[in-house]
Amino acid sequence: MISDIDTRPVGRQARANSAPVPYFKRDVADRVLDFDEAVLGYDAETAMAEAARCVQCPEPQCCVLNCPANNNIPEAVWLISQGKFIEAAQVFAATNPLSEICGRVCPNLCQQGCVLSQRYGAAAIGKLEWFVADVARQAGALKIEVPAVKSGKKAAVVGSGPAGITVAEDLIKLGHTVDVYEAWPEAGGVLIYGIPGFKLEKHVVRNKIRDLEAAGVTFITDTRIGSEIAVDDLVREYDAVFLGTGAGVEATMDIPGNDLQGIYTATDFLVRANVPLEMLPPEKQMRPVVGKRVAIIGGGDTAVDCARTAIRLDAEEVTIVYRRTEAEMPGNPVERKIALEEWVNIEYLQAPVEFIGDEQGHLKEMKVVKMTLGEPDRSGRRRPVPMEGSEFIMEVDTAVMAVGYWPDPFLGEKTPDLKTHKWGLLLADETIGATSREGVFAAGDNVHGPDLVITAVATAHKAAQSMHAYLSGALIAWPSPN
Ligand SMILES: Cc1cc2nc3c(=O)[nH]c(=O)nc-3n(C[C@H](O)[C@H](O)[C@H](O)COP(=O)(O)OP(=O)(O)OC[C@H]3O[C@@H](n4cnc5c(N)ncnc54)[C@H](O)[C@@H]3O)c2cc1C
Repeated sequence: MISDIDTRPVGRQARANSAPVPYFKRDVADRVLDFDEAVLGYDAETAMAEAARCVQCPEPQCCVLNCPANNNIPEAVWLISQGKFIEAAQVFAATNPLSEICGRVCPNLCQQGCVLSQRYGAAAIGKLEWFVADVARQAGALKIEVPAVKSGKKAAVVGSGPAGITVAEDLIKLGHTVDVYEAWPEAGGVLIYGIPGFKLEKHVVRNKIRDLEAAGVTFITDTRIGSEIAVDDLVREYDAVFLGTGAGVEATMDIPGNDLQGIYTATDFLVRANVPLEMLPPEKQMRPVVGKRVAIIGGGDTAVDCARTAIRLDAEEVTIVYRRTEAEMPGNPVERKIALEEWVNIEYLQAPVEFIGDEQGHLKEMKVVKMTLGEPDRSGRRRPVPMEGSEFIMEVDTAVMAVGYWPDPFLGEKTPDLKTHKWGLLLADETIGATSREGVFAAGDNVHGPDLVITAVATAHKAAQSMHAYLSGALIAWPSPN
């Protein structure tokens, strides 16, 4: 609980020297018992106090430049400091259709440039966005306005994650008809079938899908484009097609024993643990049984999500095994800190080299090798190098491989002239989203690789603008991506 909220200082100097206002979190012992949101964020009083710390930098403001969607953060934060929460939410919503979601899960690239971070800590922009978006939701102020007269043009959107949602919203607002095709039984992409409820409760995503439906968007779920319906069929039926199919194919580890029972890939583990069973395909409608000791292999946000999930499945000892050091870890440090609070252990500079099973073919141990860091690799991070003779045995009942994702090559293989390149990424012009097929656009993780919700939103906005130009006849020559 927060106590002693002081009256915020009014001068710029004084504000720059004030400490961040703490936000509300559930007690650890309480929150690990369920999959509800662990962080609760701000209330009206604390949000206004935190917003008042912003010194309203002159342009160009680092927060705006650092936000991939270029949210007008100074204006929104100023409105919050004045208690104008709904107006602030509308400023965020003007550039970010997923304000309620990004407020909860974004690693807040915007905060990295905040001048306040040099002293006591950046203004908590993400938590402020979250608070006002929820206020606006409760007030019914997030309705998507659509023009009375339709354009007469129809667009198909494939994939209902952040990229697909953004394009659907942008196009419906411009008067076009939009149908969204989704392979999973429910719309939402990774927001539903990936990010666990303790970071983002499902009802938040469902509210957004309902807003889009109310605005006239049709969602066709349980439908994987490329099999019964081909991209070519959509090209014939619609005036433009958007591919927002994400990067949902999971990397596995090519080491002995990787097919033993008790070894999961990250998404399989997360969806079976987190998602209500009725929202899963029949073959996944079974909760994972984790036993006492769980090892999560990997170092990104997905690994942290898996570890916190295993804690909620009642594992006694959960260890993230990562082959580099904390300095090279790709995930959000705030999420990592929350995981450590929830009794997750992290072992750095280690990697499994073999999974070992019992007579029933169930995992019982991992052979692990210690690592040291060598020269930087192509990613710029120092390469992990195994230390000879350092192998040891770790007893485990369950292992989860959270070692990366790439896009499904399926659409590229099934669609003539739709070009893909490294790791199956769709080849698309990143400024306008044009693929190698005329009338077919793409953005999000399937174009730039696995990244963040806000980067999918930002790239999808650009694709939607170009689709509008194309649908309106303003994009005359089709630009060929190289
Ligand atoms: C476990 C996990 C945790 C994450 N945590 C965070 C976080 O905390 N913060 C953050 O900013 N980012 C996070 N991310 C990353 C973020 O979720 C993604 O970058 C983002 O969802 C990408 O959006 P997208 O629309 O491109 O793809 P997705 O969200 O992957 O959506 C693509 C959709 O397309 C559908 N699809 C694919 N192929 C077809 C087809 N042929 N036909 C029909 N539908 C199809 C898929 O089923 C999916 O629903 C996380 C990712 C994972 C996996």
